Parts: sequence; C-alpha cells; structure tokens
Amino acid sequence: MWYSGLKIKTFRTGGVHPHEYKGLTEECSIINFPVPQKVIIPLSQHIGKTAKALVKKGDMVSEYQLIGQKDGKISANVHSSIPGKVVDVVMACILNYQVLSVVIQLEGEFKTGNLKKDEWEPLKKEEILKRIESAGIVGMGGAGFPTDFKLSPPPDKKIDTLLVNGVECEPYLTSDYRLMMEKTDEIVEGIKIVKKVLGVRTVFLGIELNKKKAIKKFKDRLTSESNIHVVPLKVKYPQGGEKQLIKAILKRQVPSGGLPFDVGVIVSNIATVYAVREAVLFQKPLTERVVTVAGTIVEKCGNYKIRVGTTVSEVIKEVGIHGPIGKVIMGGPMMGINVSTVEAPVMKGTSGILFFSEKEARSIDYSFYKPCIHCSKCLEACPVNLNPSMLSILGEMEKWEDMKGYHLQDCIECGCCSFVCPSRRPIVGWVKAGKALSA
Ligand code: SF4
Ligand code: SF4
Repeated sequence: MWYSGLKIKTFRTGGVHPHEYKGLTEECSIINFPVPQKVIIPLSQHIGKTAKALVKKGDMVSEYQLIGQKDGKISANVHSSIPGKVVDVVMACILNYQVLSVVIQLEGEFKTGNLKKDEWEPLKKEEILKRIESAGIVGMGGAGFPTDFKLSPPPDKKIDTLLVNGVECEPYLTSDYRLMMEKTDEIVEGIKIVKKVLGVRTVFLGIELNKKKAIKKFKDRLTSESNIHVVPLKVKYPQGGEKQLIKAILKRQVPSGGLPFDVGVIVSNIATVYAVREAVLFQKPLTERVVTVAGTIVEKCGNYKIRVGTTVSEVIKEVGIHGPIGKVIMGGPMMGINVSTVEAPVMKGTSGILFFSEKEARSIDYSFYKPCIHCSKCLEACPVNLNPSMLSILGEMEKWEDMKGYHLQDCIECGCCSFVCPSRRPIVGWVKAGKALSA
C-alpha cells in the first residue's frame, strides 16, 4: 500500500467510532441543484451581530447583490443568491430559531457568466482580506466565524502554522471529500492565498484515513510544495474538532477558554479555503455551497451545489423521499441541528441535509432519557476531559450556574457523551441550555 509507512496521527483523549454511512454519497460527483423559485436568506448565518438589511419589500435585486451589510467587526455581509423581487423582510424560522431574513422570488437575469478572473499574487494582504470580507466568507464547517476576522489575529498572537481541515469526521457527510477530489488545484491555490495572508511558512492539511484517494491526490499534487504537508489521520470522531486537530498534528494544547491563535495556529476548513479563492480571484460572494443530501429514505442521495436560501422543501422535491420522514437534520448526525420546519433554508454553514425514517429517528431520539447510572462511559468518551455525567445531572435540575464549575464553556458540543450513554441522556442539549442561560 502506498500509505503504509506513513505516520497516522490522532488525538489521545476520548472520542468515538460511529458508523460512517459515507458510502451513500462518497462516489457522487458534485452536481448543480436547480435554481429555486424562491429563497429565504437569513441575515445571520455567522457568529456575531446580524447583518443590517439593505433591501425592503418590493425591491428588485440582482444575483450577488449585497442585501445585508455586516454590523461591526464580528459579523458578515450577506448577498442575494438569485435575481428577483424582495417579497418580504421578515423574522423567519431558521432551523429552530427566528432570524431576520430576506425572502426573494426568482425574476430576471443571472450574472454567473460575467465574473472576471484576477491574479492574486500581486495583491497585498490588506486587499485580499478586503475581498474576503466583502464576499461575506464565514467558516463553512458549521462554526460560521467570519473569515476576515479569523485571519486577522491580534498582533500579540504570533501565528506560525495554518491547519487546513479536510477531516470531515461526521457520519454521512462527503461534501468536503468531493471538493477535495474534484477541486484539488483550486483548493491548493486557496491554501496559498490564506498562507500569504497569515504570513506563515508551514501548512498542514489533515485528512482522515477513510479518504485515501484524497490523501493520495493531494500528496501527488503537493510534491513540489515543500511547505504544505498532507497529514493522514486516524478515523476517530471528533477528529475534525479544531482542538483535536491541533493536538493530533502539532501536539499543542489550546488552553481552557482559549482559541487556536493562543498556540500560534489558525484552522480553516476545506470548503472555506475554496470559497476564499473564489472571493479573491473572482470577487464572488458566498451565495452557494456543496451540500451532502443523504439518508436511507432519499431516492437521489448526492452532493449538490445549492444556492443559499434554498429551502428543505425544495430539496425534498428534487431528491425524492420514499416513506414518511421521521427527522431532518442539517449538518451531521452528531453535531447537526434537528430542523423543525421544511421551510428552513440552506445557509453558508450547511454541510449536509440528512433525512431519517420514523424508525431511524426513534433510534436517535433523546427525549425519552433515563436517570444517570454513573457508568462513566461519557467520561471516557469526552475528548476534552469533562464530566458529562455531572453536567447532565445539573442540567436536568436546571442548575445552570453550577454547571460553570464543571467547565461548561470548554464543551465543544461534539455529542460523544450522548452517543455512548446507555440512559440516552440529552447531555448536549443541557450543555447548550447551560451556556445560554448562565451567560
Ligand atoms: S458534548 Fe461536551 S461534554 Fe459531551 S463529550 Fe463532547 S465535549 Fe464532552
Ligand atoms: S454515560 Fe450516561 S449513564 Fe453513564 S455516567 Fe454518563 S450520563 Fe450517566
């Protein structure tokens, strides 16, 4: 085997091995999803303040038009993904919370063919960051951190390494894998752009060993690039967590309450790096992304390039579902969010839409939990050495303030604890409530 002899890295503490289910879509090439007749575009698809609406009901907008202006440093611009008429600017239910959103009905011409390509090498760091900011790029692995802000760490933080996250450790998801397989050169160019902005010499691209073809493709492509290294990683969830990735590749420990820049590292996801290239070379706003649509009840599982704002109901119409739907999850099954309405739209951070039958939904339903039996399985599984059992007991009693004493804020919400819990306790739900209510 070409990979025998390579050092396979991983993090040491905790972790689990859920069934992968990647076979449903890993050989499905990226295809363009049909243009929807209507989009619902939330003005908050990122961490930080909601963007300010720049349009009102009745306005005509063009594709790529700025419709939400970033509000402050930690915020992101939002653009229209289709040309059309604004039929409403309204609080809409996104996943399971309300966000101010722009509803646009398709009308008029597309500009997709009109984008001109620039050379990025002559651009100064400030100009590159301006284009990333202007295009509304945010972390596309799910966190939604504004990328221009992430790539501008405080001056006292000396960054020496860029880690590119090609792990995609969540079951079912293969959208990053397909990007790596089909857009290898573009991703390498995106990595070089981010490397230039950060001024770092060294880049590591972490890929789990269940994506051997992608590892080989990048190894072959990067033979002449002495400062960009491909690192094969053991298949273990949550290998793609920023702190776990840093630990696995660099053996550095991000301190409690700290961020990767505290240990000299910036982590960027594959899809984000790809979007950065499009923003810098073509000045293209982030208005579409690759989404894995999968599930045993889905007729046309695949990896679709879908416009932001396309609703789950449009996706259902296109891919076909057989039998009643028990649950819809946006993201992966471990960290994704249970969608409460089929009018929920695809957002910049939507890596997957998963459909489960009623029977499957029951097996991942944590609403009928039992008391903690103190088996300690969750403690063994927790990748950040927390005591999920105690957090669950305090959460159940609604002692949100007391949860802080058990390092509540260090929980990365990976779901490993609930995954192994024989009492099926919804530990992450309590942690999320604790974070919100004890703040
Ligand atoms: S969700 Fe939080 S408490 Fe549970 S295993 Fe992950 S980090 Fe630990
Ligand atoms: S795994 Fe579940 S039952 Fe076991 S200690 Fe943790 S919370 Fe309690």
